[in-house]
Amino acid sequence: MSYFYGPVPSRRLGLSLGVDVVPAKVCSFDCIYCQVGVTTTKSLRRFFYVDLDKFRKELKDILRKQPKIDYITFSGSGEPTLHKNLDKIIRITKEITQSRYPVCVITNSSLLYRKDVRRELKQADLIIPSLDAASSKNFYKINRPAAGITFKKVIDGLIALRREFKGKIWLEIMLIANINDSVKEAKGFKRIIEKIAPDKVQLNLPVRPTPVKLKLPTKGKLSILAKIIDFNIEVAESFHKNRQRRFSLDAKEQIIRYLRRRPATLDDLRRSLGLDAAGVNKDLRSLVQSKKIKQYLYRGKKYFCCR
Ligand code: SF4
Repeated sequence: MSYFYGPVPSRRLGLSLGVDVVPAKVCSFDCIYCQVGVTTTKSLRRFFYVDLDKFRKELKDILRKQPKIDYITFSGSGEPTLHKNLDKIIRITKEITQSRYPVCVITNSSLLYRKDVRRELKQADLIIPSLDAASSKNFYKINRPAAGITFKKVIDGLIALRREFKGKIWLEIMLIANINDSVKEAKGFKRIIEKIAPDKVQLNLPVRPTPVKLKLPTKGKLSILAKIIDFNIEVAESFHKNRQRRFSLDAKEQIIRYLRRRPATLDDLRRSLGLDAAGVNKDLRSLVQSKKIKQYLYRGKKYFCCR
């Protein structure tokens, strides 16, 4: 399987070339909102997963096609900090790209309490760690962590990261109705955020299909919570730009690569791949017929997935 996917339109990062260094689905959490699906290997053990020659070759091949890229983002099918010596992979990425693109790591924050992990992350330009709860009870309810991870460890790790990391930190909070969207929880978030002092806080919503049925907070509720948290705050919005990019890979292969990481609608795929809707529609029908992908309805929208 390829280590790269996209560039995909990201609500936060523009066009993001995704890097997937951990196999699906190895994670230290099993979040109720996870768009990748249920965690099959819930673990805190770190391994060196990447075949470096293959990694280098794939990245060079992608760059040869001169795609438009705003960020190179380590996230994907599991928790990237479970890759041992992540700094080595980031350094190789920067060498090959001659540091033309900023590198972002999206992490669930579970391993930030470890000095070695924080040291490795210093190679990144931007870190987007998540914090989905302001209380231990909600932390276990939402993130369902591997044994050994506590709410306190996550908070302490985030505070230590801020102290040591010179790049930007955008803290992400996934808000779920009736779980972590109360006024009390928002006041708790405010206290914790003031201690962490990230550059920015992003409120996100689980809009894609999730393993557990979840409700979204209303717009009104979101603005109340944003006012209480009262920080440099941003509410994630859909990616509106429709930039055309060049791909020489077969469109069906691009669709499959995208759907391996996350379910998507026809519109998501159309914007991501820079193709016309009719072409994507035709490819999707053919992939469904050949049973390479599946389709289903979620919140009234037709989604496609490849699992
Ligand atoms: S941390 Fe990320 S990949 Fe892991 S279960 Fe949660 S949402 Fe999924």
